[in-house]
Amino acid sequence: MTRRTIIAGNWKMNTRAGEAAELAKGVAGAVGENPAVEVAVCPPAVYLSVVADVLAGSAVGLGAQNLYPAEDGAFTGEVNASMLRDVGCRYVILGHSERRALLGETDAEVSEKLSAALAGNLVPIVCVGETLDDREGGKTESVVETQLKGSLKGLDEARAAGVVIAYEPVWAIGTGKTASPEQAEEVHAFIRKLLGELFGSEVAEQIRIQYGGSVKPGNAKDLLGQPNIDGALVGGASLKVDDFVAIIQAGC
Ligand code: PGA
Repeated sequence: MTRRTIIAGNWKMNTRAGEAAELAKGVAGAVGENPAVEVAVCPPAVYLSVVADVLAGSAVGLGAQNLYPAEDGAFTGEVNASMLRDVGCRYVILGHSERRALLGETDAEVSEKLSAALAGNLVPIVCVGETLDDREGGKTESVVETQLKGSLKGLDEARAAGVVIAYEPVWAIGTGKTASPEQAEEVHAFIRKLLGELFGSEVAEQIRIQYGGSVKPGNAKDLLGQPNIDGALVGGASLKVDDFVAIIQAGC
């Protein structure tokens, strides 16, 4: 089973309209029309439209960083899946560790968002990952298992293959400390085993699992060369065209 590598840039709360447009233009130009890998950028919600205009007709997909799982209505400050589709999104990041830690987002909320994303025809990128304390306490697998099962609760086999999982060890995010390819592969293989238990091995073989956490041009090739690492969710390095493009090339 060959899974198509997917490299996504998570811009987090960075850029202004002009920079966002420049960055998107640089990525789209470098990636060309027929990239060997799937590429997406995920700007802040307010700049999705600006970036969508720049990406129109390009092979680079647009993603959001969150959604609110409800139809239109009285939800001040929120944005739903239908709005994200309307502005041209194909992807949405869900359950990022920063949202889990800073905003108290729970697995149950992530699973509701996942249903809303799929109902809205968005490809969800569901993030899981342990903290340094978890890892040092030997709890990596139990934490990842709880997050994965809770976040994917209610997901049916038929739709599971279209979901992307991002394994992002919290201790590696924005810290410059990357999981070694072996450390990452160990958890990716564990995640795929869990996906097999949940959805059967045929579906599990189709689900793409990205690694995230200080992915850079210098470490991307080794990480992406692991059998169960099917892409990268890139934070800091996705804010520089050259670095992001080098990571994309490492996945080709
Ligand atoms: P980083 O962030 O690449 O800056 O470590 C990754 C992420 O949080 O998605």
